[in-house]
Amino acid sequence: MKISIIGTGYVGLVTGACLAEKGHEVICVDMNPERVAALNSAKSPIYEEGLDALLAKNVGKRLRATADLAAAVLATDATFIAVGTPFDGKTIDLTAVLGATREIGEALRKKPGYHLVVVKSTVVPGTTDTHVLPALERASGKKAGVDFGVGMNPEFLSEGEAVHDFMFPDRIVIGGIDARSSQVLSEVYLPYGPEVPRLTTNTRTAEMIKYASNSLLAALISFSNELANLGAALGGIDTTEVMRGVHLSQYFRGRNEEGLPPITSFLKAGCGFGGSCLPKDVSALVAHGHKVAVEMPLLKATLEINKVQPRNTVDLIKKHHKNLRGVKVAVLGLAFKPETSDVRESPAFPIMQQLLEEGAIVTAVDPVAVHEAKKAFPDSRVRYTDALASSVAEADAVIVVTPWKQFDQVPELIRQRATPPLFVDGRRAFDKSSVSRYEGIGL
Ligand code: NAD
Repeated sequence: MKISIIGTGYVGLVTGACLAEKGHEVICVDMNPERVAALNSAKSPIYEEGLDALLAKNVGKRLRATADLAAAVLATDATFIAVGTPFDGKTIDLTAVLGATREIGEALRKKPGYHLVVVKSTVVPGTTDTHVLPALERASGKKAGVDFGVGMNPEFLSEGEAVHDFMFPDRIVIGGIDARSSQVLSEVYLPYGPEVPRLTTNTRTAEMIKYASNSLLAALISFSNELANLGAALGGIDTTEVMRGVHLSQYFRGRNEEGLPPITSFLKAGCGFGGSCLPKDVSALVAHGHKVAVEMPLLKATLEINKVQPRNTVDLIKKHHKNLRGVKVAVLGLAFKPETSDVRESPAFPIMQQLLEEGAIVTAVDPVAVHEAKKAFPDSRVRYTDALASSVAEADAVIVVTPWKQFDQVPELIRQRATPPLFVDGRRAFDKSSVSRYEGIGL
């Protein structure tokens, strides 16, 4: 494929050199003429291991550089935007992205045939479809999704290992505004073969994946530092050993049934955690830190977020039933997780509490934990039962709080109803197309 890449910084240049090495014909574009001249004589303006060798091999054959953006767009099938997006203290600065976008759009005005424009820069969710796409339409006078495609393809390379990361990526995320955009973008990555995991999605989700990945890594570093600070204050604790003890957990080792490290099950959004350990232990550590004057903002925030998730779950019903008075809600799952009768700190209780306060008629269903739940939440307004089918048959809305295996049949029970109830998946455990009226946390 013929590809142009705008911006020859770490991301643009490495992308250009690697895609040329993979067999594409690549034109790198930069507004800095010295960079362009250096590249055309196969000299890398940045140091990255392996980059000089790639340039020596490909410049003058499948790779060249220019400052003429319009000519590069006209001569290629797809254009990647890989310019900087610095954070100015309030917002990400889109000046370079929108400047490049406008120039690409103006070039597209003169270009017959389909062209794909791909945002590779890291941009906050919504940038590609609400800023880049309209700017392209304005500048080109053409229609996105008809005359040209728009994609978002986040980059995960890390400086110092950039060439290796691009040649052997751990994943390829393809975001597209439509099927054709995604299809053309995935053709760029055909030389990578099926062994590299790919995820095809919309542009906003693709944008979010990049931020989610970096935010998780940052949160983990701050988590370790928060614990290190407490350990140092308490004395006699070596945080390196603490973390080694944490890594030895089975959650960090091996693979689950889906072939993923087991820790990934904790990276699932839902109505919140409960049980006899997580809420109590996190609260106890925060309190212990307070005693020795070490505040633990990350763990405090962890508890705060957990407190609002039940409310966010009920809000999914309120999207459809503004007034909950008289609305029949079946709450499925009272145990804090499947395969236990333990209901301690189950998010089912704050969910039921709010539903009752707002006048809903609550049926609480669990295959084994009804007895325990009645003791923990003895409210005569709640009808407790283990009868799943009849509860689903009578409900206006069904919320899954605990993903018991027995609840796998719920979509089928819902499909049997003439007027299907709203289905709120509080654990994102169900296929969102399995019922007609689906709501899920984080959807
Ligand atoms: P950079 O600042 O090193 O390079 C940007 C280049 O774009 C510069 O050479 C500049 O001259 C050029 N440029 C700007 N506007 C232009 C225009 N209108 N026409 C032509 N050239 C133009 O940036 P970078 O580190 O490569 O990062 C690019 C993007 O990728 C950012 O959004 C960044 O967040 C993201 N990213 C960076 C890394 C990394 O490790 N550096 C990793 C993943 C993602």
